[in-house]
Amino acid sequence: MICENILEAVGSTPLIRLRHMTGSDDAQVLVKFEGVNVGGSVKTRTALRMIEGAEKRGELAPDSIIVEPTSGNQGVGLALVAAVKGYAARIIMPDSCSVERRRIMEHYGAEVLLVHDEGDIGACIEECIALAQQMAAEDSRVFVPQQFVNRDNLAAHREGTASEILADVEEAGLSVDGFCSGFGTGGTITGIGGELRRVFPDVQVWAAEPEHAALLSGGAIGTHVQMGIGDGILPAIMDTSLIDEIVVVTDDEALECARRLAREEGLFAGISSGTNVACALRLARKLGPGKTVVTLAPDTGERYFSTALFG
Ligand code: PMP
Repeated sequence: MICENILEAVGSTPLIRLRHMTGSDDAQVLVKFEGVNVGGSVKTRTALRMIEGAEKRGELAPDSIIVEPTSGNQGVGLALVAAVKGYAARIIMPDSCSVERRRIMEHYGAEVLLVHDEGDIGACIEECIALAQQMAAEDSRVFVPQQFVNRDNLAAHREGTASEILADVEEAGLSVDGFCSGFGTGGTITGIGGELRRVFPDVQVWAAEPEHAALLSGGAIGTHVQMGIGDGILPAIMDTSLIDEIVVVTDDEALECARRLAREEGLFAGISSGTNVACALRLARKLGPGKTVVTLAPDTGERYFSTALFG
């Protein structure tokens, strides 16, 4: 297939069965590996959907400036989509996010503004959001997709990520008994979890959260290494009523699982992939043999060389 541009190649990522990290007492775990998606993460899907949704609604002009507060991958996705479509992009990001993310966005031609994270990621993200809103108020060319409230974020997962999962399990003659994910905007867990619940009403949906940003569990919000999740805010688009159980994952457990994904399964994935798989292994133990658990590896490990994953 010849693509007219790289955006036509977004999605269609593989669902990979874990062979070594699960045991004979566990359900099988299938990992949707978004590290091989265009742009290296699941967030290219949401960037594309939010920009094309805005284009359809007439909210963008050729001289629009796309401004988004993000802890990283959404900025990479938007920078990529903006590059192909010819928009300017300005990304506002906490300085605690990896330097690779910033370099990648700049390489796509985006401008990156860093906001200092003083040890409370929630407060820092709020500051990034306020800055974006201020820019929108001051310049009519500014368009802020607002991934934390934008329902196109959910649609990208419902109609893209979830339908791919459903097609793959259906082809294999399987049902999905468990799904789990961490959450940043909540787009993944709400979009995919909701769609899986519609098709498989008994599916267990578990949410994973970092120990030092265990918002749903009522923990304190601090700094952690599980970038992309645990932003310390409860997003407007997140439907918490879907969630059957909340699992707290420590930084060490997330890092260990991410390393095992590479060494034992050949999946070179980021830290939140470790979080998701740590949660999936607990869900797989609970459900037991003969059942199927699905989770995501949201991004490639290649944007973590400067982080604790390689420390
Ligand atoms: N992991 C990583 C690495 C991410 O960049 C994101 C997006 N913030 C997530 C997980 C969580 O995805 P969502 O925003 O859909 O909750």
